[in-house]
Amino acid sequence: MVPIESNETDNHQTGKTCLKYSTGQIIIDNLPYMVMTILGAAIFIVGLNTSLLRWLSASLYILYSIVGTFWIILFICPHCHYYGTHGCPCGYGLVAQKWRSKKDMDLFRKKFKQHIPVIYPLWIVPAVSGIGFLIQEFSSVKLVLLILFAIDAFIILPLISKKVGCTDCPQKDQCPWMTK
Ligand code: SF4
Repeated sequence: MVPIESNETDNHQTGKTCLKYSTGQIIIDNLPYMVMTILGAAIFIVGLNTSLLRWLSASLYILYSIVGTFWIILFICPHCHYYGTHGCPCGYGLVAQKWRSKKDMDLFRKKFKQHIPVIYPLWIVPAVSGIGFLIQEFSSVKLVLLILFAIDAFIILPLISKKVGCTDCPQKDQCPWMTK
């Protein structure tokens, strides 16, 4: 992803120079997470037997995905260098500014490690459930959905985060995601 608005951002809080992302780039950066949410919900809709269970679990999964996004925005982003700037590749930093005040940036690593596990179930639950649904009763639709989910959630999403979104982050050396 090549920044098109400017090569410098308005990171007045840190004085550090970083890239500035356009709205289009922010949308692209969020796409794998959105696709993961849709595919995860689809795994429940296709895999479960009754309409009530299908739509209830799919709705809960989508709701958890939205809550997870706001969890990151509220509890991690206020500690980030990109808080309140166009340097955040997924736009969360600008949203965080509307909800919370700037917090101690030295706590970023600690807060990241503390709060990022909240969204782990978004990867684990559909993957494990999808395998269970396949064992219960095989169907090619279930298999294709599971494969697409795995490719998006475990390959494309981390790859885009690491190689595109986070590659120019001024605090990537302190970020547990980038250093693991
Ligand atoms: S780079 Fe990550 S932690 Fe920083 S503001 Fe954006 S989403 Fe939040």
